[in-house]
Amino acid sequence: MNLLALPAFTDNYLWLLHDAHQAVVVDPGQAEPVLQALEERGLQLQAILVTHHHADHVGGVQALRQATGATVYGPARERIPEPFIPVSQGHQVTVLGCCFDVIDVPGHTAGHIAYFCPDVAGEPLLFCGDTLFSGGCGRLFEGTPAQMLASLDQLAALPDATRVCCAHEYTLSNLKFARAVEPGNNALLHYSSQCEALRAQGQPTLPSRIALEREINPFLRTRQSTVATAAAHFAPATPPCDAVAVLAALRAWKNEFR
Ligand SMILES: [Zn+2]
Ligand SMILES: [Zn+2]
Repeated sequence: MNLLALPAFTDNYLWLLHDAHQAVVVDPGQAEPVLQALEERGLQLQAILVTHHHADHVGGVQALRQATGATVYGPARERIPEPFIPVSQGHQVTVLGCCFDVIDVPGHTAGHIAYFCPDVAGEPLLFCGDTLFSGGCGRLFEGTPAQMLASLDQLAALPDATRVCCAHEYTLSNLKFARAVEPGNNALLHYSSQCEALRAQGQPTLPSRIALEREINPFLRTRQSTVATAAAHFAPATPPCDAVAVLAALRAWKNEFR
């Protein structure tokens, strides 16, 4: 099984999973990079998985469906280009012989979902759209900090080795913020220099791994005292043992951080 990150727009990745014959693509905001990748490799598009309704995630769905006849799966609680099979928590989607669990992860949008398979060629794999980024999380456009915390908690509980396929290359700017939150986190400093080297060579920093994200991502570390203390410097009213308040403060801080 092969996993490709097709670049689109300025910083999106369209994740393409294929077995050398059939393929599945996640959040195709554009059709052209997908059609080109299919043609170059002689692949047939079996399915399209959509995590949420934003245009940079669904813009290419209609054209791809028309060109390939692929089946579209998408969030039951959101409007995406019809027709599609609506899925939510508890549903399973089998593509390329891999069974993906659907996880509800509201916060960035109200009906955002993620797709997790415990075994894709021997490793767990997660497509999490704009909910979890390496070193960060999505903006809260439609959900509350409590919803985002619950969503991130679900993703953080996935197996250590889970490959995390995020929809944007935001890693370096996220890590700059993460270092402001936890300047003494050695794992974070080490990972930052690895990612800077990858980007200097034009390589993606993704996929990440869940075990690593638990070590370096402040939005998965809201119960750590270092993170709570930093959040309270930004927003002094933040109660240190209230992970929702810590996450809300971090998100507000990140929104204005340069
Ligand atoms: Zn989005
Ligand atoms: Zn996006």
